[in-house]
Parts: sequence; C-alpha cells; structure tokens
Amino acid sequence: SKITIAIDGFSSTGKSTLAKQLAKELGYVFVDTGAMYRAITLFSMQQGYISKDYFDTESLLNSLPSIRLRFEFKPEMGFAVMVLNDVDVEKEIRTIAVSGFVSKIAELAEVRAKLVEQQQEMGKDKGIVMDGRDIGTVVFPDAELKLYMTANAETRAKRRYDELLAKGDTITFKEIYDNVVERDYIDTHRDNSPLVKANDAIEIDNSEMTREAQFDLVMKFVQE
Ligand code: C5P
Repeated sequence: SKITIAIDGFSSTGKSTLAKQLAKELGYVFVDTGAMYRAITLFSMQQGYISKDYFDTESLLNSLPSIRLRFEFKPEMGFAVMVLNDVDVEKEIRTIAVSGFVSKIAELAEVRAKLVEQQQEMGKDKGIVMDGRDIGTVVFPDAELKLYMTANAETRAKRRYDELLAKGDTITFKEIYDNVVERDYIDTHRDNSPLVKANDAIEIDNSEMTREAQFDLVMKFVQE
C-alpha cells in the first residue's frame, strides 16, 4: 500500500532529483516545498518588501493571506511547476537572487504556518514524496519513510554551479559556495523548526554516491 516519504536535508543535496525519481517510479505525487518558500520570496521581492539591507516583514505578513500558491503538472515536462497568483514562476524562483533571500523569509513563523498547513493538506492521502527541511519533523512526523540527506558543502556548491552554468547563468563558484554555506547556517539555526534530523530518519551522505546508487538504495528502503 501507499506510504508517505519525507525527504529533508541541506540545500543542493539532490533531494528534489531523488524525490522526482521516486515519485515517477512509484506513481506518487511529488511536492517540492522549497519552491513554496521561494515563491513567497519572489513575491516579496516583486512587491519591494525585501532587498539588500531592507525587509518590511509587516507588509509581507499583511499580504500573506492573499498569496495563492499551487503546483501545476506539466505532462510535457513530466513534473509540476510552481504557480504564484496564477502565474508560472518556475524559472524565476530558481535564481541566485531568490536563493539569497529565501532563508530570511523562511524564518517567519507566519510564513511557515501557512505553508505547513497547505503541505499537510496536499499530503493528506498517502502516495506522496515531499522534500524540504522540516517534512519528517513538522509536516509529516508520522511518515513511514524519512530520509535525511547530506553532502559536503564543496560537492553541493559544485553541483549547483554546474546546473546554473548549464542554464547560461553567469555566476562565480564563490557566490554559489557562500550562498550554500549561509543558507545552511540560517536553516539550522532558526528558532522555529530548524533543519534537524528526525530521530527515525535514515541519513544518506551522497558526497561520493552516484544518483543511480542512491536511487537503488532508497528503493530498497521503500520495499522494506
Ligand atoms: O529546497 P530549496 O533549497 O529550494 O529551499 C529553499 C529554502 O527554503 C531553504 O534554504 C530554506 O530556507 C527554505 N525551506 C524551508 N523549509 C522547507 C523547504 C525549504 O525553510 N520545508
């Protein structure tokens, strides 16, 4: 029978890649919760609520109830894109600018409460793979399978760098590396649901692991 799979861990550990592969193999729904935090961040940037040295949390909190997020499945792409107030923002939420502010947005308790509620609603039926930071601890503490993914910061920055380069982004390795380290710090030190390994999560360090090896390993856990 169908289960709930919670995948948590640091940025750029390949959580989404693994989650997508699992969802495809198992016929499950995949939810990338990072995309939801990124969409709220993009909204804040568009409204001028956040920029370097400036963060108008009050205006953001006031508009929070009116922000509508949903995922829209694109059969031609084989995955769902993030839709913010009826606009496909899948591309815009992946920029380094958004990555630079997202952890600050994710620190707000009201933002987390809104998104956690929506995530629990999306996963109320089993057969879901959800990835994020607090899925196994806060969103679905009763998930049947919990994975906690890690890899060293250089490896993760290198993966991210290659990805952005392939997209034609002009970015230095150092910018990426600094962003990875900064997000790790904020994500593990915030007061409300910091990134921590759930007691019953299986930790996977994939610094030296191929995608295929990791997928095979995880499929064994699913079948157990
Ligand atoms: O997974 P991704 O790197 O796209 O997530 C972007 C950011 O969103 C993270 O660095 C973290 O600050 C925040 N996040 C979170 N809780 C989640 C998912 C993401 O706080 N469940």
